[in-house]
Amino acid sequence: MKNRISLILCLSLLLLGVGTRAQNQQQRLENHVYFLAADSLNGRKAGSPDARRAMRYIENEYRAMGLRPLWGDDMRQYFIQEIDNVLSPQMTTINSDSVSSYEQRGDIVYCNLVAVIPGSDPVLKDEYVVVGAHYDHLGLRNGKVYNGADDNASGSAAVIEMARQLMARRSQLARSVIICAFDAEEIGLWGSTALASQMSSCGLLSHVTMMMSIDMVGWLKGGKLDFSGTATLKDCSAMIEEAAQRSGIRVSKNRYETSPFGATDTEPFAKRDIPTLAVTTGLGSPYHKPEDDADLIDYAGMSKVTDCLVALVSTMASRETVMAATGKISPKHKNKLPVLEAGIVLGIGTNRLNFCNTAFITKPGVDAQVGLTGQLNFSKHLGLQVDALFDRSTSKYPPQEDLLAGSLSYGQSSLLVPAQLKLILGNRTANFQVGLGGFYSYLLRSDLTDHEKGVTERVRILPTDQYGLTWSLSVRLMEKISMGCSFYYAFNGNNDKFSIDTKRRSSLFNVSYLF
Ligand SMILES: [Zn+2]
Repeated sequence: MKNRISLILCLSLLLLGVGTRAQNQQQRLENHVYFLAADSLNGRKAGSPDARRAMRYIENEYRAMGLRPLWGDDMRQYFIQEIDNVLSPQMTTINSDSVSSYEQRGDIVYCNLVAVIPGSDPVLKDEYVVVGAHYDHLGLRNGKVYNGADDNASGSAAVIEMARQLMARRSQLARSVIICAFDAEEIGLWGSTALASQMSSCGLLSHVTMMMSIDMVGWLKGGKLDFSGTATLKDCSAMIEEAAQRSGIRVSKNRYETSPFGATDTEPFAKRDIPTLAVTTGLGSPYHKPEDDADLIDYAGMSKVTDCLVALVSTMASRETVMAATGKISPKHKNKLPVLEAGIVLGIGTNRLNFCNTAFITKPGVDAQVGLTGQLNFSKHLGLQVDALFDRSTSKYPPQEDLLAGSLSYGQSSLLVPAQLKLILGNRTANFQVGLGGFYSYLLRSDLTDHEKGVTERVRILPTDQYGLTWSLSVRLMEKISMGCSFYYAFNGNNDKFSIDTKRRSSLFNVSYLF
């Protein structure tokens, strides 16, 4: 009996202890979000004194729980953006002593916080699990404060509390865990880019087991915690399920981050082939609106999210082997286009003939194309596209024309081979391409139809071999689909038997699907 009483007593104390811990964590999360998303911080615009205040708050929290800097004795990683060329801005880490001289020069200096919980295994401690959240937001716009409570005071707060729990159980962590707060996410993922490049230059990046970005986790509200990137790491799905079960949370999992429009701090790491997970409770909050305030956040939900992520990171940091799923990086993050691409293409548009030395132009008719397209990509920004198309075009003679009274239409079928140099802007999934080149066209058949009489007869107005200029504009979406316009201007046009200089002009809308 006595034993049973003491057992019950022990259990209730334990439950009370766990309960209070959870209560305290929720209270702390709330305090962090209310501080970071307060009007007095003016929306934490990247590189501003307000963002610095947010950074110092997070730094104090990190220090108070005993986190160590990853590099030297300073958690702050100051960096500036340097533009070598417009297409690839560089983030350069600068010394803390030189910050004021850069600022005097007119540079905006940004600042990440990078801390570490050293792993306990003598070998595995040289491998790293990176956990980060951006703390910057949009600042002030039209006199309104964009507080960014969900985006991303919530993630910053969750990372602080994750670090606290991970510190408490650090003896169980075999790998080291890097804890970071990123600046300048909202203006182009600059903070995470600066960290990835700094880790790369000091040889640490290749030792990263997994990088996790926690962005907008304040709106659980009975819903699911969303993980994107499970296919980049072996057994990732199972590890998430286990962590979810332990923390009593529902999750949704996506193999990859796929949206070409959404981006978070995982991107600079994923682009360097590091397995990544993007964690969020979704876009339920007033996203990028001044209404994204601290009083709308689900703090009990955030506390569960924190517990779930601590469980997940602990597993990743303590399992003997955690392997990247080799080669399985999201297509969105595969920066390089494949060297060779092929697909099918359809085009529809208008065509007309321009009789140059008579100032006589036919009325536009229909031009339709179908065929194969191939592209050889020499580099990220330059490719050569060659198509082989069957082309059927028509053009109409105006009925009022004396020379050819009545309603006539000219039609021609040809084999068309355009070749263009393409300038490519964007990545593999989504890009914009401008092409310029020439075309060759072999005339298969041409005919003239008299619609009044209902007769079609073969004629030869244009030469068998035609060539000219072509150019195009196109947009690639979802890696495989491309849409755009192409234009053709023929240079040669007179057939031996038909001495009028006749130039063909076509404009088409194209859709292509790449295999
Ligand atoms: Zn964000």
